[in-house]
Amino acid sequence: MDAAVKRIAPQAQCYQRRQPEKTLWYRTVQTHIETWLALTGGPGDESTPAYIEQAFRRYLDCGILANGFARAHCDECGHDFLIAFSCKGRGVCPSCNTRRMAETAAHLTDHVFPRLPVRQWVLSVPKRLRYFLQRDTALQGAVLRILLRTVERCLREHSPGCAPTARIGVIAFIHRFGSSLNEHTHFHCCIVDGVFAPAANIADATGAADAVAGVDFHAATDLDAAAIAQVQVQVRQRILRAFVRRGLIGKSDHDEMMGWEHGGGFSLDASVCIGGTDRAGLERLLRYCARPPFALEHLHQMDADHLVYHNPKPRSDSPRDLVLTPLELIDKIAALIPPPRAHRHRYYGVLAPNSPMRAAVTALAPLPVIVPQPVDTTKADAPPHRAASHYLWAMLLARIYETLPLVCPLCQSPMRIIAFITEGSSVRKILEHLGESTLPPCIASARGPPLWELEQAHRHQAGNDPQWDSSAQPEPVFEFDQRVAW
Ligand SMILES: [Zn+2]
Ligand SMILES: [Zn+2]
Repeated sequence: MDAAVKRIAPQAQCYQRRQPEKTLWYRTVQTHIETWLALTGGPGDESTPAYIEQAFRRYLDCGILANGFARAHCDECGHDFLIAFSCKGRGVCPSCNTRRMAETAAHLTDHVFPRLPVRQWVLSVPKRLRYFLQRDTALQGAVLRILLRTVERCLREHSPGCAPTARIGVIAFIHRFGSSLNEHTHFHCCIVDGVFAPAANIADATGAADAVAGVDFHAATDLDAAAIAQVQVQVRQRILRAFVRRGLIGKSDHDEMMGWEHGGGFSLDASVCIGGTDRAGLERLLRYCARPPFALEHLHQMDADHLVYHNPKPRSDSPRDLVLTPLELIDKIAALIPPPRAHRHRYYGVLAPNSPMRAAVTALAPLPVIVPQPVDTTKADAPPHRAASHYLWAMLLARIYETLPLVCPLCQSPMRIIAFITEGSSVRKILEHLGESTLPPCIASARGPPLWELEQAHRHQAGNDPQWDSSAQPEPVFEFDQRVAW
């Protein structure tokens, strides 16, 4: 093993460990999380549920070699490298967020959406209603159902020849965040642009419907701006009525909000429609819908006490650059961590798990996007059906960057994972041999007033700790967690 491990060395054009401990976000959490927890009440406090603290702590262990790793090996020349384990968390870890996004989009493209046009419907509601939506998942579900029922009715009206019971096919994503790290619950729904009905027994029923494998699809036609505006008016009325029924707003508030001009704070956009053959475009749209609340590449250090989050899509009422102290940043990210067991996307209509038409509709989704194959193509049969959770990390990287990370940098042969090393003594032995740190990065303890500012100033004065160099963010060749643009 030692002989093989000796050859492990960073290469210019191969997989490089992402070194999360050197990123600005990791160092921010590492330095300030204990202080933040102490200030917000710590474990058991209602304002800081246990899952939030757990998400931050797991993030600090993610991608750290000292916590164990997998070993990739080249059979041809014996070259090796190590891949640290990930935390699989939701919300805090940029790497795992991005992986989850890619996995969700790949699964939905390969196995769920039929090869038919898909339209994105985006609904946002007035700020007054968002307050109630932010933490009430049942209310989010109720609002989403109102939207989807209204869209379903609209699509039936615009799909000639369909039965009154025809259903739509939807994957709905509930976003709890806006583009400037703000809490902003809104809905992105990817809806097949038409309706499905069980196939008629008589094959020559109509020329308009595409009868395939037990299901008829009626494509929507003439879905113009007027039709979408009509849906928005109905959605607004129904959602406001639902809020009154639930006692969240009064009748007078309802009347006042119905009188507001320019949509009354409701906005429904349905201008993006992806053609049935554009599977790569669909996958990009799904990645956009499944994206995490923040992207590490937009975070920069401004000075010793402040960070800047660059808002890629500023609105008129939000700044382009958000200047935050580290504790404010942690506060914002903590508010966006999804609660445990809250689904981030939902299946509706013919794509719902209990729909009798689901099997027939999803059967129309094959022919996965072509990804580059390893040099050795002798085993390149049809890819086996994989559940979302079973996508290989390497294949997800390949879908995004069109390059396989598990290719030997020395001889270009495919590499394979030969071991998972989790036992403390083996981990230490290998890391010592490689000259890597055998201890995980230490987490700064909580500090009282004057909190972290003083500490930071001292550190800058000392200036002798390379671990804290703010310009040390790496730019490796394959940086899975930070390179996906949207
Ligand atoms: Zn090799
Ligand atoms: Zn992670």
